[in-house]
This record gives sequence, structure tokens and C-alpha cells, in this order.
Amino acid sequence: MTIVGHIGGSLLIAGVVERGAFGRPAAPATLGLAVLVGLLPDADALLALALGRWRPRQAMLAHHRYPTHAPLFYALLALALWPLAGAEPAILFGALTLGHLLLDTWGTDDGIMWLWPVSRRQFAVWPTHPHTDLVFGWRYYWHYVRHWRAVAAEALLLVGGLAVALLP
Ligand SMILES: [Zn+2]
Repeated sequence: MTIVGHIGGSLLIAGVVERGAFGRPAAPATLGLAVLVGLLPDADALLALALGRWRPRQAMLAHHRYPTHAPLFYALLALALWPLAGAEPAILFGALTLGHLLLDTWGTDDGIMWLWPVSRRQFAVWPTHPHTDLVFGWRYYWHYVRHWRAVAAEALLLVGGLAVALLP
């Protein structure tokens, strides 16, 4: 999933959770924060870059194999957030971060370790493997968006997210 799909998905999730679970429309500040939280799992890419464990355009970013891309990690963080911030922020945090991992499971190069730490097996709905042709960085995403399933999912998420954000 690209950053476009994650942003649309985050807006959509925040809107659905706020209306469906909390019975109110999502406030603009909530939607802005939701986008940041929805992108949080990919912050491990910046960490990998800073630590010299990944060089863009030269190697695959293997962050889907990091604990920071595992559902249990964010489930535990949401539970830890509950007594500190309250039930609603913890539920929204959990929905947004787990939603990110669901979107990474849809279209991805390798998949998400849904069973970690029991198993390191990665699950993907339709895995793509352009890295076998040494395609990294932006060239990888160019390869990725040429699949109709990627374009359809990204477009639906963006339209749905914008509808949630802009409709009263
Ligand atoms: Zn991700």
C-alpha cells in the first residue's frame, strides 16, 4: 500500500470508528491525528534508514519482518494507552494501526506477520515480488501501481477517506 492508500484508509477508519462506535462525526483535529497514527507503523523505515539497515533504491526494505509491523505490537500499545488516555483514544489507535497492517496485507511485496511471535510467516492477499528483478524504491511503486488491484484499492480508500473527511 502506498502513502495515498494509507492516508485514505486512516481517514476512513477514523470516520467509521468515530461515527459507528462513538456516535459523533470525526473532528478535523481527530482526522489529522488519525492520518499521523495511521502512518505510524511505517516510521520504522526511517529508523532503519537512520541505523544504516536499509539503503533506498539498493535493497528491499524488510520492515514487514520487524516487530514494529506486527499486530501484537500495536495491540499491546493500544492496551497500554487505555489507562493513560482513555478508552476512545486507545480504540481509535488500535483501529488505525491494525488497519495499516490490514492494508499492508492487501497489496504488498512480502506480507505481514499476523501470527508473530508464534510464527514469522508473512501473509499477503496478493503478494508482488518485483524485488526479484532488483526493483526498489520508486521503481517498486511504479511496478506496484500498474496492477489493477492496487489502483482500485488505493482509489477506493482515497475517495472513501475524503468523503468521510469532507461530508458533514
Ligand atoms: Zn506499513
